[in-house]
Amino acid sequence: MVRRQKLYEGKAKILFKGPNPDTLIQYFKDDATAFNAEKTAVIEGKGILNNILSEHFMKGLSSIGIPNHFIKRLNMREQLVKSCEIIPLEVVVRNLAAGSMSKRLGLSEGTVLSRPIVEFYYKKDNLNDPLVTEEHIIGFNWATQAELEEIIAIALRVNDFLSGMMHSVNIKLVDFKIEIGRYFEDEFGKLIIADEISPDSCRLWDKLSGKKLDKDIFRQDLGNLIDGYKEVARRFSVLPNNSVSGLKEVTK
Ligand code: UDP
Repeated sequence: MVRRQKLYEGKAKILFKGPNPDTLIQYFKDDATAFNAEKTAVIEGKGILNNILSEHFMKGLSSIGIPNHFIKRLNMREQLVKSCEIIPLEVVVRNLAAGSMSKRLGLSEGTVLSRPIVEFYYKKDNLNDPLVTEEHIIGFNWATQAELEEIIAIALRVNDFLSGMMHSVNIKLVDFKIEIGRYFEDEFGKLIIADEISPDSCRLWDKLSGKKLDKDIFRQDLGNLIDGYKEVARRFSVLPNNSVSGLKEVTK
């Protein structure tokens, strides 16, 4: 076992110092939180599934040239990622109304939007991650105009690609959240997708039954979260071999 130097601990992940200055080790915890951590639980195996699923989606994005932080998976709970300067925004893309959009605008869940809608939330837990406009982003120097345009283009490309991936396994991509950072190679910075893409950060509905396969299972007490996440992993053929109750830990 290697001792790791912890740099940051969030609600669902821990970041450790990587082997090089421009890398980090991202550890996926089993902790689940909702409603800005008002509801919490530890769900055995969640971290393993999110690690494997995020790897799968990030590799898919790399395969079509969408830059992201993923370098390689180290073991069942950790991946080596590029260290970047996170832009303090949660970038959400929606195809169907759900969650906070349904609530805010009085739209029934599942209303099909006439085009994908990109929203920005300021990452600030003590303010409950408020919805912000492009004016705020530029005015408060969270990103430049050019970066903002690129962020929107990236978000829409991710939406197209992920929607297709999900469609191929009979899942509807309702919405998702990504985070974007500046990665510096020599003196040049470029925008890359960071954090994770997993059923914690996407709404995924089974196409035929409408069954929820994402974190809403936890948010809305709809049953066993792990069953939903396992189903997503099974459809993408990345479900690890079962051990007793959880999922077997295998080091790559
Ligand atoms: N989301 C996320 N982290 C957050 C907030 C939202 O990953 O801190 C994801 C969420 O899972 C959903 C999308 O972003 O896929 C839109 O979430 P929404 O604004 O509807 O908020 P919520 O219903 O989570 O309050």
